[in-house]
Amino acid sequence: MYKLRNYQSDAVKAVVHYFRRHHSPAVIVLPTGAGKSLVIAELARIARGKVLVLTHVKELVEQNHAKYESYGVTASIFSAGLGRKEHQQQVVFASVQSVVNSLEQFSQPFSLVVIDECHRVSDNKKSSYQKVLSHLQSINPTIRILGLTATPYRLGLGWIYQYHTKGMVRTDSERYFRDCIYELPIQYLLDESFLTPARILDAPTLSYDFSTLKPTSMGRFKESELDQVLDASRRVTPQIVQQILSVAKDKHGVMIFAATVRHAQEVLSLLPEQESAIVIGDTPTKERDDIITRFKQRDIKYLVNVSVLTTGFDAPHVDLIAILRPTESVSLYQQIIGRGLRLCDGKQECLILEYAGNTFDLYQPEVGEPKPDSDSEIVTIPCPACGFNNNFWGKLDSNGYLLEHFGRKCRGYFEDDNGHREHCDYRFKAKYCNQCGAGNDIAARICYECDAVLVDPDKKLKDALNLKNHLVFACHDMTMETRKDKNNKNYLKVDYVSEEGARVSEQWFLTSKAQKQRFAKQFVRPHLADKHNPYNALTPTAAVDNQHRFRLPAFIVAAKQGRFWTLKEKIFDDELSG
Ligand SMILES: [Zn+2]
Ligand SMILES: [Zn+2]
Repeated sequence: MYKLRNYQSDAVKAVVHYFRRHHSPAVIVLPTGAGKSLVIAELARIARGKVLVLTHVKELVEQNHAKYESYGVTASIFSAGLGRKEHQQQVVFASVQSVVNSLEQFSQPFSLVVIDECHRVSDNKKSSYQKVLSHLQSINPTIRILGLTATPYRLGLGWIYQYHTKGMVRTDSERYFRDCIYELPIQYLLDESFLTPARILDAPTLSYDFSTLKPTSMGRFKESELDQVLDASRRVTPQIVQQILSVAKDKHGVMIFAATVRHAQEVLSLLPEQESAIVIGDTPTKERDDIITRFKQRDIKYLVNVSVLTTGFDAPHVDLIAILRPTESVSLYQQIIGRGLRLCDGKQECLILEYAGNTFDLYQPEVGEPKPDSDSEIVTIPCPACGFNNNFWGKLDSNGYLLEHFGRKCRGYFEDDNGHREHCDYRFKAKYCNQCGAGNDIAARICYECDAVLVDPDKKLKDALNLKNHLVFACHDMTMETRKDKNNKNYLKVDYVSEEGARVSEQWFLTSKAQKQRFAKQFVRPHLADKHNPYNALTPTAAVDNQHRFRLPAFIVAAKQGRFWTLKEKIFDDELSG
């Protein structure tokens, strides 16, 4: 009988709590080594009704099943690869491929499906996972679907879920899994000594240059192009292997990740024959199982592969990993390094030799965008509109003060009592449309709302500086007041003042409906500081009373007409780059 660690029972509680209220598929994120199979076992144990635990490889079916039976209970296994096709017990551990080929045997209602390595679930309705899931849903429409993964992203798709429990929007487009309801950072496991730390050996001077390669639209590199790069750096491979051998002298388990099958074979030929083996996609299952067993028993010291040994492979004694291939995704990179983080007696750390120029960050995967450059780090930026703390890439000075951040849009969201969700969408960087006032992405060329052409604000400023009879100044103050027109009606006068006292004004007559609408679009929208508190009072007096709700532009562009300056452009802080 196992006892759950605190975070494992927290994860279980989060699942129970969520599924009491929701039917939508959800994800929990646990790093490799967090003991996912225990969490699965506990969920299966406490669930009412039938439970199906699905994975894509038989090794995981076997591991998860063994953990569950260690509770002293029995469960079925449905996996052709394991030679067992049972489904009578309350809990069934199955490989998705075997189930999709025998859907007719799964006609009883299941109450819970747990998918291990759920980043493999694609949106494609014809995929095995989707076929199995929709079949089970047709039998029980309220079936709960839970995914587990260490790496909640997919090549070509990005985040596999839409919302994070911390109140964060990961993506604006819908995902099969709506919510991530629990996530444990890998740093926690390292701090608590549940994992062995990884150390990337600084600058092994040898490396391959894969930087010219572009992944295909599927997000992967082409084998033929990889081989071309390797051919061009023929002489490098023997030197790299030499270096691996010398670092490996006092190491026990060495995994080498090659770029292509040919490359893997070349690497193998340079390793000591008695102590080395290779596993590739074509290796027959029996031979592969045999090699893995001998590696775990330490009869083999060097294990070469391309990418087949990333999930479901578990040899805790691995203490040296050499990466000789470019990794297309942070998830593949994390899976590779994850092979070396298991605890093992006498192992202090796992050494990583990086020969392919990969720059992913093992501990900071929570920002979806790739790290812009090596001196960027994660900075927390509160949203001025909703207060949500966003994590973005950014730069700090030596005292830890923020120099800049690269976040564009707030990731906060709100949920009303009916469960309806609204994204904050506040833009840290935006281009405001002159016509309708909509905030557009800084890269946009056409307004998303009214199709007006958007001119780059930096260009507007630069052009104005070069034009005759134009005035450009940083706006130091803005005053709003009411004035009377010739019919004794109030209108609104707004003055923009420079540090030196230069002054440019605009007038807003707010009598007709059309005038009010134009004011709402062209003045209120770009000036409104808190965009979540709608502003509807469109009279001159109300505007003056609410002056504190309107922010100053950063720059004013004016043109001389006769003796007076006419306002041409207002440019806001968040529109400017850098
Ligand atoms: Zn916000
Ligand atoms: Zn517009």
